[in-house]
Amino acid sequence: MNFLTPVADSQNLIDTACSNCRAPVLVPCVPRVNTSEGLESLLAGTLNTASCPSCGELVTSNRPVRIDMPELGIGHLRYAPLDLLESDSVCEALLNESHYQFLFYSLDELARQVRARLRLSRFSSTGLMTEV
Ligand SMILES: [Zn+2]
Repeated sequence: MNFLTPVADSQNLIDTACSNCRAPVLVPCVPRVNTSEGLESLLAGTLNTASCPSCGELVTSNRPVRIDMPELGIGHLRYAPLDLLESDSVCEALLNESHYQFLFYSLDELARQVRARLRLSRFSSTGLMTEV
């Protein structure tokens, strides 16, 4: 088994209505980010988005995303769209997860957290934080 080959982010297409013109848009839905490509698209704001073919509006799929890249200092981060918390079963599943405290309610918020953690992780790995 070659561990150097990244496993592609599993991706589905979700039929979504454009928030601007209500036209149907097929939006990618990556439930788990575990490759550098997935991470780059999260940081670029393009994860799980597609342009509406009729009006060009950027449409985002309203599905949870998890990040599990502990080797980069960003293990156990979750995004759950706020309206999903209206569902009792979603709340129950989140509360049963031991890492639910690292939960974010927008992809922007998740991306900001990832950016900050990557920066802090790079900083601490230089050893400058260690007192002599
Ligand atoms: Zn549209």
